[in-house]
Amino acid sequence: MRYLVRSVPQEVADEVRRTRRAPDYGHPAHLELASGTGPCRCCLRPFAPGREQRLLFTFRPRADDGSLMAPGPVFIHADHCDAYAGEGFPDALRDLPLAFEARSSGSRVTALLAGAGVPAETQMSTLFASDQVRWLHLRHAEAGCFIARIERAA
Ligand SMILES: [Zn+2]
Repeated sequence: MRYLVRSVPQEVADEVRRTRRAPDYGHPAHLELASGTGPCRCCLRPFAPGREQRLLFTFRPRADDGSLMAPGPVFIHADHCDAYAGEGFPDALRDLPLAFEARSSGSRVTALLAGAGVPAETQMSTLFASDQVRWLHLRHAEAGCFIARIERAA
């Protein structure tokens, strides 16, 4: 099975960098020197702590069916970076603690896997084995924050 991993869209990241405000909410984005590895929710690469600037803002992932998705805090590089558009699971995320959350219709959470040391592909194929599962949310297993949305590639 092939997967599509997508996080904060390029246009949203660019808007936050330009306006320094959270889209849809309007409160100021917070600029800081990275104190942790993140990752950046635009390019999906870890931050270099103590060296790279990052912006913190509130982001609400989209839902397929108009259901109400919970907003949450995300970090992106303060300087331009390219939104991850690669094939498959980003290698840059493999060393981070990850949780895979299965979503079915109505955005209901139907399963959660956070197997440390278990390959991402194994966790994704386990969850996608259910026909009920429409997409996955990838979260940081310690901070809980949204990292990316994962879909079955056509
Ligand atoms: Zn980035």
